[in-house]
Amino acid sequence: MAPTAAQIKSRALDLGFHKVGIARADALDGEGSARLIRWLAAGYAGEMGWMHDPRRRDIRQVLPGVRSVICVALNYNTPQGSPAPGQARISRYALGRDYHKVLSKPLKALARWIEVSDPGCRAIAYVDTGPIQEKAWAEAAGIGWIGKNACLITPEYGSWVFLGEILSTLDLEADNPHPNYCGTCTRCLSACPTAALVEPAVVDARKCLAYHTIENRTSELPAAIAERQHGWVVGCDLCQTCCPFNLRAERWGRYSEVADFAPRDPWNDITLDQLANLSDAEFERWSAGSAIRRVRAGGLRRNARSALGASGDSLAQAHRN
Ligand code: SF4
Ligand code: SF4
Repeated sequence: MAPTAAQIKSRALDLGFHKVGIARADALDGEGSARLIRWLAAGYAGEMGWMHDPRRRDIRQVLPGVRSVICVALNYNTPQGSPAPGQARISRYALGRDYHKVLSKPLKALARWIEVSDPGCRAIAYVDTGPIQEKAWAEAAGIGWIGKNACLITPEYGSWVFLGEILSTLDLEADNPHPNYCGTCTRCLSACPTAALVEPAVVDARKCLAYHTIENRTSELPAAIAERQHGWVVGCDLCQTCCPFNLRAERWGRYSEVADFAPRDPWNDITLDQLANLSDAEFERWSAGSAIRRVRAGGLRRNARSALGASGDSLAQAHRN
């Protein structure tokens, strides 16, 4: 028998997700897809060609007959101290086990359970893997709102959440979109060192440290990025750590109980000097099962040397190593 929205939500929470909500499949028609089209047309996606996949604007092209989008969130935050001088800064999302691996198993189990409960339906799980506007769907499903920092913010955990989605042909009772609680706050806009938040909730990836440290494959980072890197070598959390909703979540002690998200050695305590001279063998060993693998060894060396203010010659050396 087809499961109800309440049964699916209860199952999702039993599987360990911290939040779950449901949106109708047409929830992003109109403004939701128009926002993405404007962002792409402005060139803000940089070299992320996959963002132009037309299915991202219309999930009916991902799963024909889709009627509902089930969204889940999992808090990954762990207590962090202030960075020591010379410490390489790594975004919190990347410190523990690769989130794709952590979320995929329970989300696929939920999708399987839905299909087994109603063999006539389809349910497909995605964790940052398909052409899905996951923050927009999470907002439509009532999980949280897209803040001026362009992150999905939950009232309970702030923006320290991983998101996942199940597209389903089931016609489920939908939640209301989450209201936006940013109000008159502009802290994240002021905190961004590169002015990458070109307007509230709009990131120009070409100016963003997170984009350059992770996705940029050139041999050197642009000078305008390197000058404002502040030690970041994987991502950047500056527009999140300043957010009052994240600060409140920390005051409330809302840290993740998921053991997989505990920071792994040596990432929480590694210096820029060490990373600038990272060997391929060290990278292979240390990045196993970690989202940091996406940055690659040469990328980490480049980012560290850039943050240290290395010369072009030593950058070239880093890529030869
Ligand atoms: S991740 Fe860093 S560089 Fe990018 S928008 Fe946020 S504060 Fe700015
Ligand atoms: S820092 Fe302020 S404006 Fe930015 S996302 Fe958080 S609440 Fe919204």
